[in-house]
Amino acid sequence: MHQRRQFASDNYSGICPEAWAAMAEANAGHAVSYGNDVWTQRAADALREIFETNCEVFFVFNGTAANSLSLAALCQPYHSILCHELAHIETSECGAPEFFSNGSKILLLPGANDKVTPAAVAHAVRRRSDLHYPKPGALSLTQVTEVGTVYSVAEIQALTTTAKSLGLRVQMDGARFANAVASLGVTPADLTWRAGVDVLCFGGSKNGIALGEAVVFFNRDLAREFDYRCKQGGQLASKMRFLSAPWLGMLKDGAWLRHARHTNKMAQRLEAGLRPIPGVQITYPVESNSVFAKLPPAAEAKLRERGWNFYTGVITPDESRLMCSWDTTAADVDALVADVKQLVTA
Ligand SMILES: *Cc1c(COP(=O)(O)O)cnc(C)c1O
Repeated sequence: MHQRRQFASDNYSGICPEAWAAMAEANAGHAVSYGNDVWTQRAADALREIFETNCEVFFVFNGTAANSLSLAALCQPYHSILCHELAHIETSECGAPEFFSNGSKILLLPGANDKVTPAAVAHAVRRRSDLHYPKPGALSLTQVTEVGTVYSVAEIQALTTTAKSLGLRVQMDGARFANAVASLGVTPADLTWRAGVDVLCFGGSKNGIALGEAVVFFNRDLAREFDYRCKQGGQLASKMRFLSAPWLGMLKDGAWLRHARHTNKMAQRLEAGLRPIPGVQITYPVESNSVFAKLPPAAEAKLRERGWNFYTGVITPDESRLMCSWDTTAADVDALVADVKQLVTA
C-alpha cells in the first residue's frame, strides 16, 4: 500500500513523469546491452552539454557506488580522503569508500553548518608530513550538504584552490547537486569544473529518477579504466539504457532543474510555516529541499500518531529532518504545518 506523501526523505517519492516517459521510450524495442546503446550515448552527450565540457560519464546504480568508485579512482590505498565529519561517505556508506579504495582512510574535518573550510583542509594536510600518516590524496565535498546547506561557488573555489595547492584531488558528492544548482542559480559548469572539481557524483534518485547516479569526470585522466572499476564493483548494468535513458528525459528540457527548484521552494514554504510556531526551532539555514527543526517532543510523537513519517536524530538526537520531494505539494506542506501548530498548542 502507498503511504501519503511524506517528508521522511526525497527518496520516498516515485519516478517523475519525464524520467518515466524516457524509460517507456527506451522500453519500446531492443537495444544493445552494457551501455553500448543510443540512450546511454545520448544521455552522456546531454551531460556534456549541460556541463559545457567534454567530460567522461558513467552511470551506476546508487550514490554509495558512485562515491566509493570515484574516490577509489582518485586515491591509492595509502592515501587518505578528507571530508566533513557528517559526510555521507563517513556516516552512511558502511565503509564502502574504504573498501573499494582498498584501504584509503577517511580523515574527518570539523566545520559549522556541515561545511569544511580551507583552513581545516590545510590543517589536516600539514599537521604531519611523515610516512606514518595516511597521505592526504583527495578532498570530498558534499553539495548540497547533509544538513541542507549549500556551498557557494566562491567557497568551492577557495576549497579547491587550497586542496590543489596541497596536492589533493577534489571529488563532489552531488546526491542533491540539482538542488544546489537551483538554489544558487549558477551554471553546472561554474559550480564544478570551473571551480576546480575533478569528479562529480551527480544524483538522480533524489531528483526524480527511479535509481542511478552519473559519475562525471571533468579531469578525464582520472577516468582511466573506470569502466573496469564499475564492472568489478557490480555497477555495470546489462540493460544500461534503463539507467541512462531517464537522464535524457530529465536533462533535455530542464526537468531536473524544474523539479529541484520546486522542491527547494516547498522547503522554503515549510520553513516559513514552521518558524513562527512557538517551541519550534529551525536549526540550519534552509538553502535547499530540507528543513531541520527541533520540535517539542510531545508534538513530535503526536505527529507520528497522525501518520507523519520523518527522521529524528540523523544529525543530533533532538533534531527532526523534514525533506521535500519533486512531488511535494503546497497543500502537503500546509497540512504538516497545520498539524504541528495544532499539536504544539494542544
Ligand atoms: C542519498 C545520499 C547519497 C547516496 O546514497 P545511496 O543510498 O547509496 O544512493 C550520497 N550522498 C548523500 C549526501 C546522500 O544524501
